[in-house]
Amino acid sequence: MAWFRREPAPLAPRPSTESRVPEGLWVKCGSCKEILYRKDVLKNLSVCPKCAFHFRISARERLDTLFDGAWEEFDRGLVSGDPLGFRDSKPYADRLRAGKAKTDSYDAIVSAVGALGGRRTVIGAMEYGFIGGSMGVVVGEKVTRCIERALEERLPLVVVSCSGGARMMEGTLSLMQMAKISAALARLHEAQLPFLSVLTDPTTGGVTASYAMLGDLNVAEPGALIGFAGPRVIEQTIRQTLPEGFQRPEFLLQHGMLDMVVDRRELKKALVRSLNLLLS
Ligand SMILES: [Zn+2]
Repeated sequence: MAWFRREPAPLAPRPSTESRVPEGLWVKCGSCKEILYRKDVLKNLSVCPKCAFHFRISARERLDTLFDGAWEEFDRGLVSGDPLGFRDSKPYADRLRAGKAKTDSYDAIVSAVGALGGRRTVIGAMEYGFIGGSMGVVVGEKVTRCIERALEERLPLVVVSCSGGARMMEGTLSLMQMAKISAALARLHEAQLPFLSVLTDPTTGGVTASYAMLGDLNVAEPGALIGFAGPRVIEQTIRQTLPEGFQRPEFLLQHGMLDMVVDRRELKKALVRSLNLLLS
């Protein structure tokens, strides 16, 4: 007789994962529910003009918003070899093919070099549309090569994270990328070249636990989910309600986990200013 017992309050619903600006002439903001003219949103760097909600953008859009003009992609052709022959509800090889068709990239990051505020800079931008931006062997190798390119040419490095974490379809090989990238970043640090880490919605799991938190400056976009395990998993493990704003940039900034929270429309300026400071 369920009505004699107090039912535990249900956990808050999961935030929508579909936060890209949808197709069509008009779009509805996921946060303030305002109906917006799609072109106005795109002109505003995919930020809601009414409430400043940040829609998720692709890696290539991200690079367009940061670089001064044309940029050059490198290491485009690296492809996962499916080392475990993994299959869950469908074969991993099919997921890789679908990711390629959807994003025009062979894995979840685009590596590029170009001018940022007039200064030649290496930028790696992660692609959430490719298997949730997860980090497998290819992402690990490409981030490492971004670092090595920065070292060779003595350039600053920016990595824009947007990732659900390590890629389970590559098992331990994914986890090994965390150590590999961290070791490469240590060499960048020894060479006194700056690394700016930009954390966007979402930055979680093995990516947070390695390079996303290793920036000389860690900069986040407002409202992004940033953490290791998801809030639901933590709540169910510790059996406590999490504080308001937990794993959100404003909370993390207050608790010393981030250096800046910057609106996307100001992000380029903030990165340029930071590089000027670090390299002066
Ligand atoms: Zn809005």
